[in-house]
Amino acid sequence: MNNKKQVNLLIPFAALSLCVLLTGSCAKKEKLYRKSALLMNTTVTITVVSDSSEKADAAVDAAIEDIKRLEALISFWSTESEISAINRNAGVKEVAASPDTIDMIEKALFVSEKTGGAFDATIGPIIRLYDFKKKIKPDDRAIRKKLPLVNYKEMAINRDASTAYLRKKDMSFDTGGIAKGYAAHRAAEALKATGINAGIVAVAGDIRAFGLKPDGKPWLVGIRNPETGDKEDLLAVLGLSDESISTSGDYERYFIEKDGTMYHHILDPKTGKPARGVRSVTVISKEGAFSDGFSTGIFVMGTEKGMKLLNEMGFEGLIVDNQGKIYMTDGLKERIKFKGKNED
Ligand code: ADP
Ligand code: MG
Repeated sequence: MNNKKQVNLLIPFAALSLCVLLTGSCAKKEKLYRKSALLMNTTVTITVVSDSSEKADAAVDAAIEDIKRLEALISFWSTESEISAINRNAGVKEVAASPDTIDMIEKALFVSEKTGGAFDATIGPIIRLYDFKKKIKPDDRAIRKKLPLVNYKEMAINRDASTAYLRKKDMSFDTGGIAKGYAAHRAAEALKATGINAGIVAVAGDIRAFGLKPDGKPWLVGIRNPETGDKEDLLAVLGLSDESISTSGDYERYFIEKDGTMYHHILDPKTGKPARGVRSVTVISKEGAFSDGFSTGIFVMGTEKGMKLLNEMGFEGLIVDNQGKIYMTDGLKERIKFKGKNED
């Protein structure tokens, strides 16, 4: 689709490398360009390194278009999406879907397998029973009725035929725990395809960074203090390049009942109720869908099993439990800088 655009954009970059070789000075002109847009029900911010505002603009627009395109395919709430068609046809028939949709579902099923079902995107029928804005939660009977519909093993995909099928009627695949991380990664790929060598895409808290900043350093990303969930109140910062980071926290979407119980949007697929024990989970990996999906799944698994899985998968990560205790992978300890008291 963007072939013509890509060719046009690559020419100035070829010229740029030539002039770097000859004079060693052109690279200095590289600057940061940033643009935000409201997509996927949240704020998407894209930052690129470029030597021209035109090139930066074209690249960012291409990435935004790609997120829009993906959103139209994988949105859980839009009745027009391919995911909705798959859900409507649960227990009825296989549905043809684009390779992107199948790819995302396949990644979600991989996360489900690895987390032993703690991440289960077939949580759809249960998530629909909650409304966190209106402070609505289901009673136990309603949950019990829908729980048998939650089982990722009842979802079948056929990569060759590019189809997906939910085997039981009324099953429903909720992309909320994986779509943003997937889209951030894909948008970064879209930027690269236009010739951009460095940038960072943030779909809310699901972030993908590639290349280095103009100062030659990795991109700096913050992890929020789950105590407040405030974007100004950071627990720690770390450098990121050619990786994805996602944080799942109970502060994102929640309400508090009169008795003080907090109802938030990360549900234990076994009980249909908010997972307890953990306040936030951050996962850093090479794959956006995995950072997003595993952070949600590990939130449900809890600290002990969660840390074990992070190490097994070779991911970096951090878990804050409900006492404020921090658990971290060894690799992360070397690159994270805590704010506040520990700051040097
Ligand atoms: P956020 O949407 O705030 O980035 P997450 O990535 O953790 O947070 O995703 C939470 C969303 O994932 C929920 O709003 C819901 O749509 C879905 N979800 C909730 N619990 C699970 C679960 N156990 N497995 C898979 N998806 C889930
Ligand atoms: Mg997630």
